[in-house]
Amino acid sequence: MPFRSGFVCILGRPNAGKSTLLNALVGEKLAIISPKPQTTRNRIQGVVHVPKRKGRGNDGGQIVLIDTPGVHKPDSSLGRKMMVEVREALEGCDLVLVIMDVTRKFDPRDQFALDLLRRQKTKAFLILNKVDLIREKSKLLPLIAEYRKLYDFAEVIPISALKRNGLDTLLEMVIAALPAGPVYFPEDQITDQPARFMAAEIIREQLLLNTSEEIPYATTVIVDNFEEGARLTRIAATIYCEREGQKGILVGKGGQMLKKIGSSARLQIERMLGTKVFLELYVKAEPGWRDSRRFVEELDWRRQLEHRMIEHRPIEQRSMEQKSEARDSQTGTKSNDGRNQTED
Ligand code: GDP
Ligand code: MG
Repeated sequence: MPFRSGFVCILGRPNAGKSTLLNALVGEKLAIISPKPQTTRNRIQGVVHVPKRKGRGNDGGQIVLIDTPGVHKPDSSLGRKMMVEVREALEGCDLVLVIMDVTRKFDPRDQFALDLLRRQKTKAFLILNKVDLIREKSKLLPLIAEYRKLYDFAEVIPISALKRNGLDTLLEMVIAALPAGPVYFPEDQITDQPARFMAAEIIREQLLLNTSEEIPYATTVIVDNFEEGARLTRIAATIYCEREGQKGILVGKGGQMLKKIGSSARLQIERMLGTKVFLELYVKAEPGWRDSRRFVEELDWRRQLEHRMIEHRPIEQRSMEQKSEARDSQTGTKSNDGRNQTED
């Protein structure tokens, strides 16, 4: 079998486990995950390098995975942008992984995903996720038969993205379904996402984890400044929310909440970049930002890059490891926690 490669899109309704699967396959945390639906807003691309296997006639391959925001009927400018992301991701991909949560009943959102797929006529696998939650595996059989009637899936593969069950089989089948192709990304690269976008996502994840109810959906994060040095990266970011009251919650008593979000995010960004990080966080109320087309367009990291002419810097696995080794043996620069502040 020749070296195979291609673009594989992960499609499914919110909370099905798309981002968990992406991270499990890539082996690094690329997409933010939370128990709240609609956590992923942009397309996230991850690269899986599948090594050659001796005796199996498999020459290895490369899977460029595209995680999409959960499909749903759009109800705002933000929602519409998310669906554009999904459609763009579906166009020109070689294979679609439709991921379904086996613990949930099929509903209009799943139907919506299948309708999108039908329009593209792309080859698709059905991935039945969260099988770890089903005790009697025989219960999956009628489900599989049911789903097979809905679309002509090339394969049906039960997995647990969380427990990493069934992933080897999945990878093998995906590789076999891809065309003979080139090496798209160097072996040490695992994503095409710019570091500044990843930083914004990490901050947003901390918002999701630390706040409840309407706050997560009402917020977004824009990185205003991102200056990378060999040892220290300076980042300034603004958290936008919709109302003054939300701003109050995000800042917290005496700035406690913002401090907590800031220091957890900082640790994760340091791990990602392999440098110390100086993180300044601001909170601003921008009423109705989700319905403002201009504002939502600004959120797109590609546009942010165009506007700010920042060099595209992919995150490299190998250099991350090297950098963190270098960092461990050096205790020079101190990072800053207490500088998180708000702006009026
Ligand atoms: P997405 O919205 O489709 O990207 O879903 P996420 O990957 O963000 O996952 C949504 C929730 O489902 C998170 O709480 C995950 O931990 C959980 N989850 C994902 N995969 C599995 C799985 O295989 N088993 C179980 N038990 N939970 C899972
Ligand atoms: Mg997601």
